[in-house]
Amino acid sequence: MKVVLIGVGQAGGRIAQSLAEFDLDMGFDAVMGAVAVNTAKADLSSLDIDTVLVGRDRVKGHGVGGDNELGAEIMQSDVTEVTDALDGRVVAETDAIVLVAGLGGGTGSGGAPVLAHELRRVYDIPVYGLGILPGRSEGSIYQINAGRSLKTLVRETDATLLIDNDAWHESDESVEEAFTSINEEIARRIGTLLASGEVIEGVGESVVDASEVINTLKEGGIASMGYASAVASEDPAENINTVTSLARNALLTGTSLPDAVEADAALLVIVGDPEHIPRKGVERARRMLEDETGSLQVRGGDFPLETDKLAAVVLLSGVERSRRVDEFMERAREAQEKQEAAPQEDPSEAFQNDELEDLF
Ligand code: GDP
Repeated sequence: MKVVLIGVGQAGGRIAQSLAEFDLDMGFDAVMGAVAVNTAKADLSSLDIDTVLVGRDRVKGHGVGGDNELGAEIMQSDVTEVTDALDGRVVAETDAIVLVAGLGGGTGSGGAPVLAHELRRVYDIPVYGLGILPGRSEGSIYQINAGRSLKTLVRETDATLLIDNDAWHESDESVEEAFTSINEEIARRIGTLLASGEVIEGVGESVVDASEVINTLKEGGIASMGYASAVASEDPAENINTVTSLARNALLTGTSLPDAVEADAALLVIVGDPEHIPRKGVERARRMLEDETGSLQVRGGDFPLETDKLAAVVLLSGVERSRRVDEFMERAREAQEKQEAAPQEDPSEAFQNDELEDLF
């Protein structure tokens, strides 16, 4: 699938860059362009991809803090600067535009839904969101921002794939320490999904193509993905169990949204040397996915690649009713209620101290 990536905000820019680098290193050629958009100049200066600084007149390159309403307003007024930067990048071959953003911050959280709205107005191809949910340990403002942003982003995109910041890192690292490794995992996993159908080494009927990804996501709503890999055996018969257990692990433990299993539609992609991929194993894994997800729309295909490993990539769509999404929205709602109930302190009163005299 040929995509143009737009990273909005700090997380969005970093992840768009990681995805572009992975695609280049692997020689997949699925990423046709990557642009980072931000209100904070400093966050753009560390990136190698093309950049667009928005909101110069409002925040002078200093960012919006955690104010996602301001992030949305700025994107609204400067959206043509972003669409201009896409001129010549979105071409006839482009299958989709992918907007990447951390949903808990300000620029990406507020800007991505506004940009999605505009892009869908301008282009005929699908506009997907790749949204990063804040981890459980992040503060309440992140949860509130992400709840509001998610609701809007899902409405404004053709589908939004969610990655929970608690999902793909070791539990002994803090989320902050783990950003680099999470971003690498995102790049490898999402990068492989996006490249499905791009590298055809040995053509077969069972090779997956971009339309299968698009069809899996066509009902819209929230999507998630899972990934698992293992060393392949030379003998395809020995790989039958490997493929089934990889698909199960991708669904149950390697997922971007823990506990999201029930789905409206799914796609199973088996990555590996075609000689190693057992048809029987793929068929079994597909049936297992039908049972586990409760969906009758489970597509499947191979991603032929010269490697000594086998990997399963599972894309699920229509997971909005999952326990994980409910739990997250509840967390965001509680954080919002707590904030509304807290008495608004007058900052000058908080500093009252009778033992010190005022300066004048
Ligand atoms: P913005 O620049 O105002 O859009 O804000 P950020 O992109 O920093 O968004 C904050 C949210 O994104 C928080 O939930 C962070 O945990 C998360 N975040 C920030 N940077 C990264 C990153 O590099 N990787 C990942 N996975 N999450 C990040």
